[in-house]
Amino acid sequence: VKINEGEELRRKLHNTILELKGNIRVFCRVRPLLSDEDLGKEPKVYSYPTTAETLGRSIDVIQNGQKSYFTFDKVFMPDAAQENVFVEISQLVQSALDGYKVCIFAYGQTGSGKTYTMMGRPGSPTEKGLIPRSLEQIFQTRQSLQSQGWKYEMQVSMLEIYNEMIRDLLSASQSCSDVSRTESGVAGKQYAIKHDANGNTHVSDLTIVDVRSSREVSFLLDQAARSRSVGKTQMNEQSSRSHFVFTLRISGANESTEQQVQGVLNLIDLAGSERLSKSGATGDRLKETQAINKSLSSLSDVIFALAKKEDHVPFRNSKLTYLLQPCLGGDSKTLMFVNVSPEPSSVGESLCSLRFAARVNACEIGIPRRQT
Ligand code: ADP
Repeated sequence: VKINEGEELRRKLHNTILELKGNIRVFCRVRPLLSDEDLGKEPKVYSYPTTAETLGRSIDVIQNGQKSYFTFDKVFMPDAAQENVFVEISQLVQSALDGYKVCIFAYGQTGSGKTYTMMGRPGSPTEKGLIPRSLEQIFQTRQSLQSQGWKYEMQVSMLEIYNEMIRDLLSASQSCSDVSRTESGVAGKQYAIKHDANGNTHVSDLTIVDVRSSREVSFLLDQAARSRSVGKTQMNEQSSRSHFVFTLRISGANESTEQQVQGVLNLIDLAGSERLSKSGATGDRLKETQAINKSLSSLSDVIFALAKKEDHVPFRNSKLTYLLQPCLGGDSKTLMFVNVSPEPSSVGESLCSLRFAARVNACEIGIPRRQT
């Protein structure tokens, strides 16, 4: 009986949180162990409560014999296929065609599966990530809406924010990775961010490409992937030390009904959230990590302030939040994936990520959560 009462309370709290927090959702995804990783005799880090109310939404974490509990809008276990993850976001993606501003983030330490979630495994159709799947769906829907009189124009831009500097990933001169790694960026380019009265964001000098098919976008994604800055840390040779922001702007008009819509879909692969000590950072790497920490904490401050409906929302505290300002407030829709690794040696980082995400998920109301 006690368990049921607890479950009932948990359900009520969860529903209250959902009502109050509006358009912010958090999904947790645990990646599988990779072939060269071995749990050995180490105890399992995660368990997934299976009672009816929490099924698919809860994750318990054990560190040093102590258990922490988290509930999110969804928890994907290691065996979750890309297709099944996409099913859960397809409506959100669709809403960009209805004129909503949508942001989907992947947050987590390096190696936790952010890029796999967003982009997928290169060359594997079944392991395509959310970005290619979203584009396929959008272009398919666009075609089917044509018969109802809708005409859409789509534009893509891709940039990264590295050390609080914007880099254009589609600019011809940036496609050479040597250029994209210079401190000063490309000479003469400012990449200044401005928002107009209609809530549209303009980044000066940023390349914006008209696109007509998901194949065209795939081509651009490949170009952008080649341009991205990568650095080396002790944790992952190819770790990404920059935020990657993919933006699709959608303008739709229906001649017969005279309706017009302007939607935006932002898909963001955030830089690794690992703490300084673990990545062994010094010098330039220390500077990178500090810039990453600053922008990630600014992001949570912004979401926190929006959810609490504070008068002042500190969008200007980082490039990332200022860039996304029109897409984070009002009736925009935000989803954050918190990606975690199954390795016992990463449990400390995983807990940090889960706590960050829990703050984003439920900070809105001061209800104490079950986590320790
Ligand atoms: P991150 O972007 O967070 O640094 P990656 O997406 O590069 O992490 O993932 C690290 C490794 O784990 C990659 O080799 C990736 O292919 C693999 N991986 C991540 N998530 C999954 C998953 N759900 N299924 C299979 N392999 C995965």
